[in-house]
Amino acid sequence: MAQRTFSIIKPDAVRKGSTGAILAEIEKAGFKIVAIKKQSISKQQAEGFYHVHLGKPFFKGLTEFMSSGPLVLLVLEKDNAIADLRKLMGATNPADAEEGTIRKKFASSMGENAIHGSDGEETAAFEIGYWFAGYELI
Ligand code: UDP
Ligand code: MG
Repeated sequence: MAQRTFSIIKPDAVRKGSTGAILAEIEKAGFKIVAIKKQSISKQQAEGFYHVHLGKPFFKGLTEFMSSGPLVLLVLEKDNAIADLRKLMGATNPADAEEGTIRKKFASSMGENAIHGSDGEETAAFEIGYWFAGYELI
């Protein structure tokens, strides 16, 4: 059954001019783009989004990085979207990411790793609702 997930093309990838190439990979993999917007976010917004990582050693660097420049927020849909996007993204550390994955192709480090994807149904629902209003999902 069609499922929705949430994704971000992170500031490193936007800065490098990889937005279009990453979107092409996503569409080639069969995802429908339900919603898309490019914007900059505040550190506070990044902290709220990543609240599950509060207290971890990388939290400060992560939230500073995510608020360092424009990013692209996405809602994606396909059968098995959540797991399939995680597979397409590759491992968090690009050094461990499989050939052909987005992080292998576009990420430069563990912190600046090009793309975010929801890790489960509950997080997908929270993350979609955090960035998008119902009327934006078409
Ligand atoms: N991160 C980091 N150092 C770490 C672990 C994570 O900088 O040791 C960053 C990285 O950008 C990662 C994000 O924090 O994508 C969220 O971490 P998570 O473990 O949820 O990885 P993901 O789900 O993005 O693969
Ligand atoms: Mg995660």
